[in-house]
Amino acid sequence: MNPFDNAMEQLKRAAKVADIKEYEVLRTPKRTISITMPFETDRGEMKYLKGYRVQYNDARGPFKGGIRFHPKVDLDEVKALAFWMAMKNAVVDVPFGGGKGGVEVDPKGLSQRELENLSRAYIKEIAHFIGPDVDVPAPDVYTNPQIMAWMLDEYEKVVGHKAPAVITGKPLEVGGSPGRSYSTAQGGFFVLETFYSKKGTVAVQGFGNAGSHIARLLHEAGHRVIAVSDSRGAVYDQKGLDIPRLMEHKRKTGKVSGFATGIGDVLTLDVDVLVLAALENQVTKDNAHKIKARVILELANGPTTPEADRILKIPVIPDILANAGGVTVSYFEWVQNRSGEQWSEERVIDELKQRMASAAEEVKKTAENYKCDLRTAAFIVGMGRVLAAERLRGNL
Ligand code: NAD
Repeated sequence: MNPFDNAMEQLKRAAKVADIKEYEVLRTPKRTISITMPFETDRGEMKYLKGYRVQYNDARGPFKGGIRFHPKVDLDEVKALAFWMAMKNAVVDVPFGGGKGGVEVDPKGLSQRELENLSRAYIKEIAHFIGPDVDVPAPDVYTNPQIMAWMLDEYEKVVGHKAPAVITGKPLEVGGSPGRSYSTAQGGFFVLETFYSKKGTVAVQGFGNAGSHIARLLHEAGHRVIAVSDSRGAVYDQKGLDIPRLMEHKRKTGKVSGFATGIGDVLTLDVDVLVLAALENQVTKDNAHKIKARVILELANGPTTPEADRILKIPVIPDILANAGGVTVSYFEWVQNRSGEQWSEERVIDELKQRMASAAEEVKKTAENYKCDLRTAAFIVGMGRVLAAERLRGNL
C-alpha cells in the first residue's frame, strides 16, 4: 500500500465527483529534495542516513509541513504527506502551501546527543531551501519541540540572523505559541462536535502527541475512553481509563502497557468514536468490515486506505480536516513570530475553534451538495482553493 498512490486516488475521486478537469497540476510535487547525511554515532561509527524534503505546492503561500523521524520513512510517504498538507492548509484556509520532510531512522535507538546531531545535520542540508517566506517545517511523528529548537538554532547559524518564523512547534521560550502542544487534538475535538455531538465510548489508536491529548480532551468532556494503544501494546477498561494517570504512566515508562488490562486490537472494538492517531494504512480492506464504531476521527495522516473507504458505512472525519488544528496553530505561531507579539492561550484556542468550526461546516455543506462522503467533500474544498490560486497566478 503506497500512501502516494492512495493520496492520488483520493484526489482523482474528488475531481470526478466535482467534475474538475484541471487537477493534473496536483499530481506531482513542485520540488523534491533527497539527501544523504553523514552522521557520527556516540561510538564514533559513521552512518549515512537518508532524508527528504518534499515541497509539493506553494500556490497559496510558503510550503508548510512537519518533519518525521521513523525507520519506515521513504520518498512516497513524504510525497503523500506533503500533498495532504497542501490540501489541508487549503481546507482550513491558512495562507500556506504543502510540504513535508522525513529521515529514515529509528530515533528510539538514539541518545539525546545523537538526536541533536541528527536534527542539526538534517536542517543544515535543507537550510538553503527553506525560510519564513519559502518553506516552514514543524514536528511530526517522533519529532518534538526540543528538536524544533535545535533545528531553529542551526538554521539561524547558517543564515546569520534570528528567524523564529522558519519553524513552528517550538518551545514557548524560543518563540513557540501557547496551545501548540495540544492543538492537533484540540482541533479534532472541535471538528468532532460538528459531526458527532453525543457523549459516548472512545478507542484511540496511537498515544503520542495527537492521541494522548484527544484522549484527555474527550475524557475531560465526559466521554468514556475505554481503550488506547501505542506501538508496543494496548490497554482496556470498559469503565473508562483514567487518562491523566495514563499519560503520566506513559511519560514514566515510555508505553501504555502495564497500566490496565492488555488487549490485542483497538480498531475493532464496539465504541462510538474510533480515533486513529498513529500512522498510515491502518484501516484497510482486510479489517474495514470488522469496524464497529459509529464514527471515525482521523488525527493521523492517511490512516484509512481508499479500498477501506469503499467498505466503511460510517462517517469518517478525514485527516485533512480532522488534524488541521496543528497547522492552524502553527500558522498562529508564524503570525506571532512575524509581528513580535505573543497571544494568550485563550485567544489561540478561541481562534482555533472558529477556524475549525467554519472548515467543518464548509466540508459538511459540500458533502450535502455533492451527496458524497466527507473525505471527498474535503478534497473538493481543498483542491478548489489550490486550483483557484494556480489559476490566478496564470499557471492553469
Ligand atoms: P507521536 O510521535 O507523538 O506519536 C505517535 C504515536 O503512535 C506513538 O504513541 C506511537 O507509539 C504510536 N504508534 C506507532 N505505531 C503504532 C501502531 N502500529 N499502533 C498503535 N500505535 C502506534 O506523533 P504524533 O505527532 O502524535 O502523530 C501521530 C499522527 O498524527 C501522524 O500520522 C501524524 O502525521 C499526525 N499528525 C500530527 C500532528 C502534530 O501536530 N503532531 C499534526 C497533524 C497530524
